[in-house]
Amino acid sequence: MDLTLTPDQEAFRAAAREFCDREVVPHRTAWDHAESVDLAIVPKLGEQGFFGVKIPEEYGGLGLDLLTYCLAMEELGRADSAIRGIVSVSAGLFAGPILAHGTDAQKQRWLPGIVAGELLGCFGLTEPGHGSDAANLRTKAVRDGEDWVIDGEKIFITNGTWADACLVFARTGGPGPKGVSAFIVPTDTPGFERREVTGKLGLRGQATAALSFSGVRVPADALLGEEGQGFRIAMSTLDTGRVGIAASCTGIIAGCLAATVEYTTQRDQFGKPIAAHQLVQDLIADMSVDADAARLLVWRAADLAMRGEPFSLAASKAKLFASEAAVRAANNAVQAFGGYGYVDDYPVAKYLRDARVMTLYEGTSQIQKLLIGRAETGVSAFV
Ligand code: FAD
Repeated sequence: MDLTLTPDQEAFRAAAREFCDREVVPHRTAWDHAESVDLAIVPKLGEQGFFGVKIPEEYGGLGLDLLTYCLAMEELGRADSAIRGIVSVSAGLFAGPILAHGTDAQKQRWLPGIVAGELLGCFGLTEPGHGSDAANLRTKAVRDGEDWVIDGEKIFITNGTWADACLVFARTGGPGPKGVSAFIVPTDTPGFERREVTGKLGLRGQATAALSFSGVRVPADALLGEEGQGFRIAMSTLDTGRVGIAASCTGIIAGCLAATVEYTTQRDQFGKPIAAHQLVQDLIADMSVDADAARLLVWRAADLAMRGEPFSLAASKAKLFASEAAVRAANNAVQAFGGYGYVDDYPVAKYLRDARVMTLYEGTSQIQKLLIGRAETGVSAFV
């Protein structure tokens, strides 16, 4: 693997960083306090190309590669994970599977709007009773003539209160993963209701919703892919999603490192900058190594995927390492800032709150370990 970015990738990264420094960083604390980003940012993110990095030009996207998408996720993660989540869910978890599995009509209907930031999508897999064990989800879709009728509940759905459509995973057949199908459900369909999940530890600027489906009737062409393919669609979507989460965690680590270097070289204690104390350098050295290691795992997973090779295992390793390292780096950053790290005057307190969820969603750290353990041993510890 060549670890040198192409001039186009470098230019994309520089433009993404410049946009984030101008449009996101100055507002992130206020959005966090308000518990909502200003949604006027969404079309601006579209104009900058964030929603369309991997979507082909025929749907308005940039048609670039997964590594470039990861660069976007790293820059957004460094700036504000709430904004990153809006993009990664709408572009990655909603538009991604439509691009991979959708009909021409489904692509034409949803992709241009998502790319432009005129529409937002969400991904409805998790249920109140089935999180890690998503293969046993209970939301049901029953065939009624030409239509499907959906009943059930989803929880913790990013973008859920803002989204124009939700990719809903529902049971159409027997128990287990083979009985699950995926449906594209417009959120103005009668019987669909949503409420905001409040009081989150982090990602406060981002909408997170509980969704309820009560006799939600959608036409046959709302089905994405084949009946019974839904769980496979969800899992392959999450493979790529995990690479993106790992990239955004790399951004958190890089942000913590930059903020900590700046602060510790300027603040004096015991007659010299705190950066000159060896135990403070210990914290900084760990962040620096974690940033490199996380980025290399991300690039390796992206490289495998771009070459069309299996990359699920590499994605799990990247997600596991980078998410744990992001929590570690943000915790170290707060330590290096002392009391000032515990308040909102600097970004590190928010980095710590935002990082914490990264070890939970898109498969907890325990679930990533079970996936890695299964690949290493050939023995599944899931059941
Ligand atoms: P559980 O599955 O109940 O797990 C609880 C604990 O048990 C964890 O520590 C877990 O690792 C452990 N555990 C479970 N099974 C095992 C096992 N077999 N072996 C060892 N340990 C085990 N979901 C979506 O579908 N779409 C979204 O957009 C989305 N966004 C989210 C945003 C936020 C802010 C949050 C908090 C969650 C979001 N989620 C979303 C849900 C998220 O993916 C789930 O919370 C996650 O998968 C864990 O499920 P759970 O919360 O039900 O925990």
